Amino acid sequence: MSIAEDFDPTVYLNGEWGPLSEARIPVLDRGFIFGDGIYEVVPLYAQANGERLPFRLTQHLARLERSLGKISIANPFDDAGWRALIARAIEANAGAGDALVYIQVTRGVAKRRGHAFPAGITPTVFVMVGQLVFPSVETRARGAAAVTAEDKRWLHCDIKSTSLLGNVLMAQHAAEHDALETIQLRDGLLTEGSSSNVWVVKGGTLLGAPRGPRILEGIRYSLIEELAKEAGIVFEERDITEAELRAADELMISSATKEVMPITTLDGQRVGDGRPGAVYAALYGAYQRAKTREFGL
Ligand code: PMP
Repeated sequence: MSIAEDFDPTVYLNGEWGPLSEARIPVLDRGFIFGDGIYEVVPLYAQANGERLPFRLTQHLARLERSLGKISIANPFDDAGWRALIARAIEANAGAGDALVYIQVTRGVAKRRGHAFPAGITPTVFVMVGQLVFPSVETRARGAAAVTAEDKRWLHCDIKSTSLLGNVLMAQHAAEHDALETIQLRDGLLTEGSSSNVWVVKGGTLLGAPRGPRILEGIRYSLIEELAKEAGIVFEERDITEAELRAADELMISSATKEVMPITTLDGQRVGDGRPGAVYAALYGAYQRAKTREFGL
């Protein structure tokens, strides 16, 4: 699989497999009309034998189950069912290099438009293998730019919902400022990026905003916590003020596609000495090693 624009993966939609370009949903799908759905993005890492295997799939499937539960959509598959579906999606899209699996479940197709849940509808299930486009080697070596903005999203950010308008506007804000990410603040406290968790280093200690409804707990959140522990880096999960964010020695973001990525300018100001730092280097190295040992269906 190359990153050609005409890449047309074989996707799963409600029991059928076919090309993405031909997949269709009815306009009264609750996902289309209300953003009433949940999604997951699971990295697939190419192994030495050429096989692509999902990373931390157990945790991704657990978060999918939690998100569905929080909006009262019955999980359409059990654990084994999801694993079989994902294995088949990988098989149907064989190719070289890392990739990702995108999973979306919506409440289903209603008979008419009305906000409250319609009775007796079947969730829509969509699974697609996509390209995992990492930041360039140069960006990683230099570190990326981020800008800040007020977090105006709702207070259920822990649900990995397809209602992403707040995140979309923040991503556009970053793009308009030639930045990789917008880092959000709510009531003077750091929450998260538009599509990432944010990490602050001060005096060698790694700080992360508290897990809870103000942020999406990334699958990399507890991974980074574990990797920090292994590397002997002290980690504190606590409120982080805007002043602490701006006075950081190092800043990083994490997500399935960014892994862990250094941020070296914030609102045009240098972060620390303006270069990716030692804590970042330790975590990135540990992350790359974890990729070779923690995977599987
Ligand atoms: N927060 C938000 C708002 C996100 O969209 C993401 C990426 N899905 C994350 C955090 C990081 O989550 P993960 O590590 O599971 O990719």
